[in-house]
Amino acid sequence: MSSAIIIDGKEASSRLKTAIAISVAALKAKHNIVPGLATVLVGEDPASQVYVRSKQKTATAAGMNSFQHDLPVTTSQNDLLVLVRKLNANPAVHGILVQLPLPKHIDQFAIITAIAPAKDVDGLHPESAGRLLAGGDSLVSCTPMGCIMLINDVMPAIAGKHAVVLGRSILVGKPVSLLLLNENCTVTMAHSKTQDLPALCRSADILVAAVGKAEMVKGDWIKPGATVIDVGINRIPTPDGKGRLVGDVDYLAASKVAGAITPVPGGVGPMTIACLMVNTLKAACQQHGIKDVTIPLRLLPKA
Ligand code: NDP
Repeated sequence: MSSAIIIDGKEASSRLKTAIAISVAALKAKHNIVPGLATVLVGEDPASQVYVRSKQKTATAAGMNSFQHDLPVTTSQNDLLVLVRKLNANPAVHGILVQLPLPKHIDQFAIITAIAPAKDVDGLHPESAGRLLAGGDSLVSCTPMGCIMLINDVMPAIAGKHAVVLGRSILVGKPVSLLLLNENCTVTMAHSKTQDLPALCRSADILVAAVGKAEMVKGDWIKPGATVIDVGINRIPTPDGKGRLVGDVDYLAASKVAGAITPVPGGVGPMTIACLMVNTLKAACQQHGIKDVTIPLRLLPKA
């Protein structure tokens, strides 16, 4: 039987999207500016197509402009760079998202670094990462931002708590760790060479798992009452051949011990796209020097 609070990412993201739509409307009413998000998809990977369409739909539903660029898989790196530079120069575009992964013949880093940092709504440009490290106001990558919002939503006072982050990727582990540090948590970043992970995890008031290993974190690794944020998305085989999505945490066992836990799917995932909209709104306000529109960085209380 589950004793943990189940953190409903769909419900939380819908609260966030409501707050974003209110701010987008205020930006239009006060300043006649509509945030614009450009999404760039190279190739026809079905999962990437689904993600990009969902980003466009969410932007439009929030009252933003959405500009979609679908390019063939044969697009050269140079042609993609030309498009990115055009979008950098387009004043109607406040945020640029190039859907990853890119085809192998394109250097991902070259594309990410070509995006103007002011429009880097994915938060992956080294300048964005550097600003986060230096404590400046940056566009933070979306999944880590979503994790922090969910944690703040269920744990109103996290200063001084011990947070253990499993994984040290640029995409998730490192930015989550820095954001938790900015919230005055005591942060331990763990990775594949860390010794005695179970004992380390058992000391965590907040455990963020972002390793990409199906159900690696067992129930007896969890400190009773801890908040567990499971970022992992892993497909495991099922007898019907369709497969099933699971996280990095053994959810059934962990939910008997944790105080609050995100399910997979339906936890962190839905927050990621909503946080992309936060960044697009923020980028639009920053590019126009606007300070009187609220950028939602915390979830509104439940109605
Ligand atoms: P990466 O593969 O880039 O990084 C994985 C990290 O986990 C590495 O730092 C690695 O350590 C560490 N790791 C791997 N195995 C172990 C182990 N046995 N013990 C401890 N640490 C380990 O993955 P990402 O950060 O990009 O993604 C992580 C997961 O999150 C994936 O399942 C991904 O699909 C998911 N994800 C979900 C998103 C969402 O919206 N919900 C968005 C982004 C990612 P080392 O550095 O030593 O190799």
